[in-house]
Amino acid sequence: AKYSQPIVGGNWKCNPASHSTLPTLVSNFEGVADYLSDCDVYVCPSNLHVSLVKDSFVPGISVAPQNCNFGGCGAYTGEMAVDQIKDLGLDTVLIGHSERRGEFGLPTPKESNELMATKLKYILDQGLKCVFCIGEPLPVREKGIEAVVEECTKQLEDIVPILKELEDKSRVVIAYEPVWAIGTGVTASPSQAQETHSALRSWIATAVDAKTAEGIRIQYGGSANAGNAKELSEMDDIDGFLVGGASLKPEIVDIVKALM
Ligand code: PEP
Repeated sequence: AKYSQPIVGGNWKCNPASHSTLPTLVSNFEGVADYLSDCDVYVCPSNLHVSLVKDSFVPGISVAPQNCNFGGCGAYTGEMAVDQIKDLGLDTVLIGHSERRGEFGLPTPKESNELMATKLKYILDQGLKCVFCIGEPLPVREKGIEAVVEECTKQLEDIVPILKELEDKSRVVIAYEPVWAIGTGVTASPSQAQETHSALRSWIATAVDAKTAEGIRIQYGGSANAGNAKELSEMDDIDGFLVGGASLKPEIVDIVKALM
């Protein structure tokens, strides 16, 4: 990271099985307290656990739900409205994770790029911040960097007008998460990740504007851990990490430290 305040997120996905484990998971983040003036940190607990942990973290850590509805309250069974998230005092929402976009063939609805744009607009209109996930599956990566950039920018195209209008560019964070690296133990190499982040930033400069390209942060996600975070964090265009598996372990502190 060279230009912006780094940002690290912990995505707990659909874990833990028992809420009795939550205090341990929360305490894993205690050690980041010393770094919060130099690094933004958010945690995405499962929906059921958001309210249980939202006041438990050291002050300065944001609790960010892993998804939200595309609008307000109403007849949307099983959904969570941005209005409800805001009402709980939360300031950030993560959307577009590949596991929600349907990349893993899970029985969740395919979440389209268009739907992501509707969600983002609503989140920002409500005054909240957003982590916006994008990434390519393995067959696209195997075709090379041009195909990767084409796939990832396709996921960004619908939000271009929203980013253009956004005054404070730090309110949107892009999480670049190659699908083949999520939960696999296979991490993008620092040069692979840097090449992609840099290409995405250049695309944003052209499609949106230079101010957005400079101000928006791009996190890397995909099997990031204490062992690979230092090398990845030395790349100019990597502004932090979105961490799945390792955010359930004490090593999350070392991942934050790697960015200092
Ligand atoms: C994620 O869920 O966003 C993620 C990057 O997972 P992992 O770190 O486990 O690959």
